[in-house]
Parts: sequence; structure tokens; C-alpha cells
Amino acid sequence: MSSEWRRLTAPEFLDPRVFNALRHGDKHESIAEDAKTVILQGVRFTVPSPIFVPGEIVYVRLRRFFEFMRKEDWDCAEALRAKEAADRAIREKAEYERRREENRKFNLSFGFPARFTIGQKSVRSGLLENSWGDGRNKRSVYHVVLEETISIGKLYRKSGDFLCTRDPGWLKHVDRLEDGRVNCKACLQILNRYGSKR
Ligand SMILES: [Zn+2]
Repeated sequence: MSSEWRRLTAPEFLDPRVFNALRHGDKHESIAEDAKTVILQGVRFTVPSPIFVPGEIVYVRLRRFFEFMRKEDWDCAEALRAKEAADRAIREKAEYERRREENRKFNLSFGFPARFTIGQKSVRSGLLENSWGDGRNKRSVYHVVLEETISIGKLYRKSGDFLCTRDPGWLKHVDRLEDGRVNCKACLQILNRYGSKR
């Protein structure tokens, strides 16, 4: 089997209409007449040594040269590509699940006494672009978003607030993330300070 396109020899005189037809489209079906010849639109194309099974379908395309690939080889290569893509998708999903679980464990490892998720400032809050003022890209900062109102000592936050900030007015522009890992320094400090396990 060869999943390479290989050179095919066109007849010395080739009807320009056939040439034009072949220029369009990715590949065209021809039929092998014998081991060294395929026929496409009544035109015979050849290879120097026997390759084809008479009657089989052979794809022909025109790039810099006329090239061919047996349909059987094309189908094999396609099946292989599809299998590789499916395997990759399975690996990526497993990797995503692993990372999500790892992040979840990390987020909970502080023993913080309230329910929360992870959130980022939304890109939709265009007005607030670069509003952190310290040069951080806000899309790379993952905050704790409280899912319940809390009052622990001096710490008071409403449900929906970031742990590091009392509602500054833009919290409707928060993207909740299932798979995030908190990395906002201010949020981490508070988690450490008020958590039971650190
Ligand atoms: Zn924060």
C-alpha cells in the first residue's frame, strides 16, 4: 500500500477540455484498464511499471503533474486518519478530565468554609480591558466566585462576589469555569487565611 500520490503520464496530445476538467476538483475517478493504464474521460494515462488491478478505481489529480492514488490505498489512509483522530479525541478528553479533577482538588484543598466556583472577568466586559492596573492579562486570572453570602470575621462577601473583591459593579461580566484552578493571588491569600486546612 502507498498513501502517496505518484506520477502518472498523460498522453502526448491531451484534449484541452480534459485538461481543464481535471484542473477543477480535488481528485477524479478513473478505471484501471490494465496493470499500467487507467482511463479517465476516454483518455489513457500510464505508469512505467505494473501497479493496477484491472477494473479497480484509481484517483487521478492534477497538480504540477498528473498524479494517481489507488482508491483502496486512499480508503486505507482515510480510515487510519479517522482512527488517529478518534484516539486523539479520547486522549484529550481523558487529559481534560484529569486536569479538571486536579484543579477541583486544589481549589477544595484549602478547606474554605463556603461554596464557590471559579470565574474570570469576561472578555465581554470590553470597557474593563486591562483594568487590573498591574499589567496582568485578566483572562489568565482565575478567581474564586462565591456561591453563597459569607460573613467570617471581617470578611463579608455576597453570593456572586469574587473572594478578592466586593462587587465592584462589573460582576455580571463573569465567566464561570468548571475546570479552572484558582490562581488570583488575592483570592489565594484569603483562601489560605480563612481555610481550615492551611
Ligand atoms: Zn481574585
